[in-house]
Amino acid sequence: MLNSKNNIQKICISNIARQDIIHLQPYQSARIIDNNTYNKILLNANELPNNTIFNLKINTFNRYPEPQPIELLNNYSKYINININNILITRGADEGIELLMKVFCTSHDDYIMFFPPTYGMYKISAQILGIKYRIINNLQNQQLNLQKIKENLFNIKICYICNPNNPIGNLLQKEDLIQLLNITKNNTIIVIDEAYIDFCIKNTLVSLIKKYNNLVILRTLSKSFALAGIRCGFVIANIYIINLLRKVIAPYPVPQPVSDIAIQALQKKNINIMFNNIDILMNNKYWLIEHLKKISFVKYIYPSVTNYILVEFINAEYIFKYLYSKNIIVRSQNHEPQLKNCIRITIGSFDECKKLIFILNQLSL
Ligand SMILES: *Cc1c(COP(=O)(O)O)cnc(C)c1O
Repeated sequence: MLNSKNNIQKICISNIARQDIIHLQPYQSARIIDNNTYNKILLNANELPNNTIFNLKINTFNRYPEPQPIELLNNYSKYINININNILITRGADEGIELLMKVFCTSHDDYIMFFPPTYGMYKISAQILGIKYRIINNLQNQQLNLQKIKENLFNIKICYICNPNNPIGNLLQKEDLIQLLNITKNNTIIVIDEAYIDFCIKNTLVSLIKKYNNLVILRTLSKSFALAGIRCGFVIANIYIINLLRKVIAPYPVPQPVSDIAIQALQKKNINIMFNNIDILMNNKYWLIEHLKKISFVKYIYPSVTNYILVEFINAEYIFKYLYSKNIIVRSQNHEPQLKNCIRITIGSFDECKKLIFILNQLSL
């Protein structure tokens, strides 16, 4: 009974909805795979294991918040050493990815470009907005294929470049990025997604905002700052681009509790704690790599400057399921043509790293 009624509803609605949305393959959020996080070791979403406790400074919520909270702009501006007029606060870096397409791309006409293997949301946001995309795979050495990119830049409004790249964990060559910025100066926006740049902060391109009008940088508090739960990110660009983005962002996009916590996280003392957390995590990473290297069914570990490592196993599907059965959740990349048998492992606490190695060592393949 219920079923047939549901089916009729589904048929009616599917006549109204966009066909491309009905067939859209949505983002596989790490939390969808596993709702019940109790007792599990979560190494699949590149979150930090640190759980700092924050208290809200303001506890009443009957008024709309400041559209762009000035104290948060000031604190982030100090952290990255850029004028507040060059910053837009967003609902995570993910919102920044989409806002840029809304400003620069006309549906069904314009193209974006991205460079797999890379972060999945560039493609999905484009699909949701009906924007076309052109894909240029990275070279074998995981660097940009500049030659091929140059030949295919016609009609491209935005290039999305993840640096350091997810899921590999490597940095792209600065000379390549500069060359691309120079070639595209008057025609294409170059977006550098620096979600993981705090792990190797010297490599940020933020200071180039002044030099290249077409450069846009995305940042987030979700990873290094251990604040994935508050959904807070930033777009950094010249004033003209920031003002266009302000036109299309939703009204009051930064909830009061979000800015309250973000402002605290960006105080000098807490920024020092963040960098200290990173140091500890990097030591965990070196320890983990040393021990993974000794395991016979580990084939290759990609060099990483971030809080995750991409590991090629003899049989990733088997390893993924085995770890899952032991309550250790990692992220398989086996579906990516270039990353057969690869699993992305977030660096957890030292205890979590030890547990992972202990569990893997129980296997003999
Ligand atoms: C996690 C991640 C994001 C999304 O960040 P949010 O601020 O949580 O939306 C964007 N880009 C890359 C490369 C990421 O890994």
